[in-house]
Amino acid sequence: MQPVSLPRKILGLQQKMHLLLAEWVSLDRARRQSTSAMVSFTFDDFPRSALGIGGRMLSDHGWRGTYYCASGMMGKIVDSEAMFTRSDLDNLVAAGHELGCHTRDHVPCFSRDGKSFAENCAANRSGIKKMLGYDIRNFSFPNGQATLGVKRRLHSVYDSCRSNNWGINTDPVDLSYLRANPIYSRYGTEAVRKLVAENVQRNGWLVLYTHDISPNPSPYGCTPDDFEQVMHLVLESSAEVVTIRDAVSRFARI
Ligand SMILES: [Zn+2]
Repeated sequence: MQPVSLPRKILGLQQKMHLLLAEWVSLDRARRQSTSAMVSFTFDDFPRSALGIGGRMLSDHGWRGTYYCASGMMGKIVDSEAMFTRSDLDNLVAAGHELGCHTRDHVPCFSRDGKSFAENCAANRSGIKKMLGYDIRNFSFPNGQATLGVKRRLHSVYDSCRSNNWGINTDPVDLSYLRANPIYSRYGTEAVRKLVAENVQRNGWLVLYTHDISPNPSPYGCTPDDFEQVMHLVLESSAEVVTIRDAVSRFARI
């Protein structure tokens, strides 16, 4: 259930080819109308601490984040982590954060056929719509893994789909395969510091993601101190912090 549970090195050759095809074949090429650097903070799954700690820290800076939720996780304990509750969803929307889709049951794309995968995504969207009256517009692939077949099914459903592939999104971006970069305490913050600086130089769109935020984070999360440090790097960079939804609205498809 973790954001990165299956490293590429243990995937089969066929699956690796699928991942590369999904990365190489752009389906939603788009260019941005504005010229300033942007940063988006995103969270996957998501644990309560991502909103209770991370969301509050973002709000303290006047910023908002994007939370890709798998509604099947609501109210559950997953890998010893308390996942979001119904009231968290209400609070998230009231605070102006964005809710995104991460399938309903945290389904990796290799685990079922494309039709069934798309149905699981639809179930997540309709469940959230029924609960909150909220229209989800953006998606992140569980474990960051995408196939070209899944991209083809989803690119007309969502305004954007986010991978876990490192890098900065620069024109022309592929909105059906956004690049994103982890804030994991086990990696430290040096790589993020370099990305934040490069993002400004290239007028790019840097998408960051993490999972839990805790003094003792999981391998896929970070400490409040590390999150604060990254926020300060972004603040000093003068890049604009926007949700995925706001960022996507600034692109025109080509
Ligand atoms: Zn996930």
